[in-house]
Amino acid sequence: MSDSISNTPLNVTERGLVCRFTKRRSTFIFTYCDGILLDNFGFSQEDVYGKKLEDIFPSELSGIINKYCYQAWEGQFIQYETKLTGNDYIAFLAPLFNNGEIVEVIGTFIQSNKPSLENELVNTDSLYEDVLQTMSEAVIIIEKDGKVTALNENFQKMIGLIGDYTYGWKEVEYVAEDGSHLPYSELPGVKTLEKGISFHNSIVGVKDIENNQIKWLSVNSKPLTMRDHSDRASLVSISDITERKEMENTCIQAKEEAEKANRAKSDFLSKMSHELRTPLNGIFGFAQLLELDDSLNDQQRDYVQEILKGGSFLLSLINEVLDLSRIETGKLKVSIEEVPLLNVIDECINIVQPLAKKKNIRIQKQLDLQHHMVVLADPVRLRQILLNLLENAIKYNRQNGNIMINSYLEGDDQFVHIVDTGVGFSVVEYHKIFVPFYRVEGTEEEGTGIGLSLVKQLVQQMGGNISVRSKKGKGSEFCFSLPLPKKLKPVIRWEDEVEPLKSVEGKSEHYTLLYIEDNDSNLNLVKNIIKSQPSYTLLSASNGKEGLEKAAFEKVDLILLDLSLPDMNGYEVFDMLKAKEQTKDIAVIAVSANAMPLDIQHTLEKGFDNYLSKPIHVKEFLNTVSETLNNSITQNIPHHTILSTGPYGEEAVSAKTLQLSLTELKKIKEKKYRAAIAMHYADNDWSKSQIAGVTSTFEKMGVEVIAVTDAQFKWEKQVEDIETILIQKPDIIVSIPVDPIFTASVYKKAANAGVKLVFMDNVPKGLEHGKDYVSIVSADNFGNGIEAAHIMGQELGGKGKVGIINHNADFFATKQRTEGFEETIKQQYPSIELVAQEGFTDPSHGEKVAVDMIRKNPDMNGMFVVWDVPAEGAMKAAEAVGKSDLVITTIDLGFNAALEMAKDGSIQGLGAQLPYQQGVAEAILAGYALLRKQTPPYVAVPALRVTKENLLEAWRLVYNEDAPDLIQRTLK
Ligand code: ADP
Repeated sequence: MSDSISNTPLNVTERGLVCRFTKRRSTFIFTYCDGILLDNFGFSQEDVYGKKLEDIFPSELSGIINKYCYQAWEGQFIQYETKLTGNDYIAFLAPLFNNGEIVEVIGTFIQSNKPSLENELVNTDSLYEDVLQTMSEAVIIIEKDGKVTALNENFQKMIGLIGDYTYGWKEVEYVAEDGSHLPYSELPGVKTLEKGISFHNSIVGVKDIENNQIKWLSVNSKPLTMRDHSDRASLVSISDITERKEMENTCIQAKEEAEKANRAKSDFLSKMSHELRTPLNGIFGFAQLLELDDSLNDQQRDYVQEILKGGSFLLSLINEVLDLSRIETGKLKVSIEEVPLLNVIDECINIVQPLAKKKNIRIQKQLDLQHHMVVLADPVRLRQILLNLLENAIKYNRQNGNIMINSYLEGDDQFVHIVDTGVGFSVVEYHKIFVPFYRVEGTEEEGTGIGLSLVKQLVQQMGGNISVRSKKGKGSEFCFSLPLPKKLKPVIRWEDEVEPLKSVEGKSEHYTLLYIEDNDSNLNLVKNIIKSQPSYTLLSASNGKEGLEKAAFEKVDLILLDLSLPDMNGYEVFDMLKAKEQTKDIAVIAVSANAMPLDIQHTLEKGFDNYLSKPIHVKEFLNTVSETLNNSITQNIPHHTILSTGPYGEEAVSAKTLQLSLTELKKIKEKKYRAAIAMHYADNDWSKSQIAGVTSTFEKMGVEVIAVTDAQFKWEKQVEDIETILIQKPDIIVSIPVDPIFTASVYKKAANAGVKLVFMDNVPKGLEHGKDYVSIVSADNFGNGIEAAHIMGQELGGKGKVGIINHNADFFATKQRTEGFEETIKQQYPSIELVAQEGFTDPSHGEKVAVDMIRKNPDMNGMFVVWDVPAEGAMKAAEAVGKSDLVITTIDLGFNAALEMAKDGSIQGLGAQLPYQQGVAEAILAGYALLRKQTPPYVAVPALRVTKENLLEAWRLVYNEDAPDLIQRTLK
C-alpha cells in the first residue's frame, strides 16, 4: 500500500461511520456499525446489530442507503455525496464477496467539509484499510520473491505463525484437501504469481506441527499489477473454514457409518430370513398335513391350529423382513407395466372379504368406471400394497365398520384412497407409522410394524407417493398415487373444466406477461424462454414505477415481480398493485434469489400467487407460469366422497373422475356429432350456467349444439320441444324433465331412436339406465347438507338449539339435503339440539313458517333452510321478530343469500351446487356414451362450502363469472 496511509492517517469512525449490512428478504440489516455519526443519532454499536436500516436512520437517509445497497448487492461499487445532520458526507458502498457470492455490503460515510473533498479522496486508501480491518478474512499480497504484505491483521493468526511472516510463511507445512503434502510452489497464491491464473475457493490445509492438527483455509487469488507496473504480484484472500470442514467430515463419517451398519443389518436380516424360511416351511407344511389327519381329537386339532396360526404369522413376518432388506440393499427391483387398477382392486377386495366378514365390515368402492383405468406399476407389488392397506383397514377397524375405496385422476397420476372407520391415530404418528417396526403405542392387534414402511417404499419405487390422514377414534385415510401411461393422460377432464382462469376469463388462450426486473441478463433469459411460447407475450419494466404504470395501462394477465428493484422493493410494488382497481386481480409471481423456505413462505403469505427462485430454470419457470395462469379455487372442491345416492338409491360416482383422453376426443371429433339441450326453464342463473357448461365442453369435443329449448316449466311444451328436436336427428339430448311422468313417453321415443340421453337432476319414470339413458347428473345434495351443518356447528361453537325448515315434497334432491344436515348435526355436534322441524310446499312461504317456528322456540340459535329462496324468508322473519343473532345456513348461492353473507347478516354460510360444472360432467358423459363406454347411472358434482371468506371465488366457480358489483362492494 502507498505511504499515504502512515503520513495522513484518517480514522473513519472519528469522521463518520463504518457499517456492514446484509440482505434479509427485501431489506438490509446491520451486521456492524461504528462511528461518530452513530453517536449523533443517539445509538450505540450494540443497538444497531441485527436492526433494519430504516429502524436506525431517518427515512430519507435509510431510503437512499437502501437504494444504493441494492446496487451494491448486485456487485457495483457506489460512491455518492450526501448531507446528514447539516454536514456533507461522502459515502462509499462496496459489495463483499465470499465464495463468489455477495454476502455483505460495506458502507463508509466520511464527513467531507466541502472545499477539501479532494483531500479526502486522496485518502481513500486509508478508508479501504479501515474496511479491510473489519473483515474476518485475511487479505495479503504476495510479491515476486514470495514476500508477503498483509493488508489486515488476520493472516498471521490464520496460518498459526508466531514470528515474522513476511518470508516465514514459506516454511509452514501445507497439505492438500486429501491430506497429502502440498509443496509451496503448488499454493494457489504462488501459482497465480507465477502463471497469472486466478483461483477460486481452493482448499488448503495448514498443519500445526505441535499438535498435528490441520487448519483448513479457503483461498481466492488473482493476479495484481503493482503500482509501478514493475512486477507481478498476487492478491490473496483467505478464510478459515476449519469448522465447516470438520462438520462436513463428521457428517460424511456418520453417514458412511450409518450406511455400513444399515447394510450389515440388512444383509444379516436377509441371510437370517432365508435360514429361517427353510425350517419354517417344514413346520408349516407338516402342520398342514396334520390338519388333514382325521384321527386327531379336538384338542390336538386346536394345537395344530395354533401352530398354523403362529407359523403363518412368522412366515409373513419373514417375507416382509426379506422385502425390506432387499429394498434397503437395493436388490428389490420392480418391473413396471400397464396394470388395470380396477381389476387389481377387485381381486384384493375378494381376498380380504372373508377377513372383513368376521368383523362385519362393509367394503365399498367409488371408482372411475372406465375400463381403462390403467396405471404404471408392478402388478405383484401393487397387489401387495393394496392388500396391506386393506388388511390394516380391517384389522384396525371397529366391529360393523366401513371401508371406502375411492379412486380418481388428478394431474398425471391416479390416486387411490382407502378410508376406514377404525381406531385412527393422532397427527404426530403420521410420519412415524411409515418407519420400519414402528407401531402406534397401545396397538393391541397382532403385527410387526413393517407393512406400511414396505408399502411406502414400494409406492415410491413405482414413481408414486403415499400420505395419511387420521383422527383418533374416528378412522384413517391412506392415499397413494401411481403414474399414468403417457398415452392415457387425459386432455379433457371435469377437473380442468372447473378451473375458470383467474382474471383471464373471456380471453382466448393468449396471455400477456409483465416482467418487472432491473437485471438485464435475467430479463434476456426470460425473453428467450417466452419466444418459444407463442401463446405468451412479454412486456418488461426495469423498475417498480414503470412496472406499476405498465400493469395499469396494458392488459396484463400475469406479473413476474423481481423482489429487489432499484427504486422500491417488490413487496411495496405488490401492495400498490393490490391497492389499485385496475391491477388488483392480476396474478403476481415473486422472482427472487432468496430461496430459503421462510422467505418463500413469507412471500406466499403476503398473497403472491407463486414464487420462483433465481437462477431461473426454464422448465420450472414455464410450469409455474402456466400453473399460475390456470390457478383456480379447485381446492374448494375437495375429493369429497359423494354421499348422495341417486333417485333410485344408486350409488354416486364423483364427477371428479370423468375425463376423455386425446384418442377418445379424436374419435368423437371425427364423427361430428350433434346435440340438443332441452331445459325445463332456461331463464335463471342455474339453467344458464348448466347450458354454458354443456355447450363449452361440447365445443371442445367438436359436438355441434343444434338447439337449446326452454319449456317454461310446462310439460306439454317440453314434449313439443323434444318432438321438434327429434326431427333434426340429434345424436345427444341433455335434458331436465319438467315432469317425470308426463314427459316419459317422448324421452322413450328419443331413446328408441338411438339418441343418447343425459339427464340433469331427475329421470323420467320407466326409463332404464344403460338401455334408455346414459346417466343422471346432480349436485351432491347430501354433501351440501353436510356443509351447511358444519357451518352451523362452527358458528354456534358446537352448542345450541337449531330448527330445520324443509320441503314438503317427495323430491329426492331436497330430501337428501335435509338428511345430510340432520345426520351431521346429530353425529358430530352432540351438544346441538334439533328443536323443531317444519315444512313448506310453496317456497314463498319461508317467512311465515320461520316466524311460526321462532315464536314457538324463542331461545333458538340456528335455523337450516333447505334452499336459498325460503331462507331469504327466514332471514326476514328473524329481522321481523328482532332475532338478529339467529344463524341461518342453507343451500344454493343465490344473489340475496350472497349479499346477506357479505353483510355478515343472519345467513352465515351455505352449501352450493355447481351448475356450470354439472354441465361439464353431462357433456363428458355424453362423450362416454358416444364411445360406447360404460357409464355410471348416477354422477354427482361435489359439494361446495361457501362462507363470507370464499364468497367471491365461490361465485366465480358457481357461475363462471365475477360476483355482481354490489356483492363485491359490500364485502370491502
Ligand atoms: P402392523 O400392522 O403390522 O403393526 P404396519 O406397518 O402396517 O404394521 O402399521 C404400523 C402401525 O400403524 C400399526 O401398528 C398401527 O398402529 C398403525 N396403523 C396402520 N394402519 C392403520 C389403520 N388403518 N388404522 C389405525 N392404525 C393403523
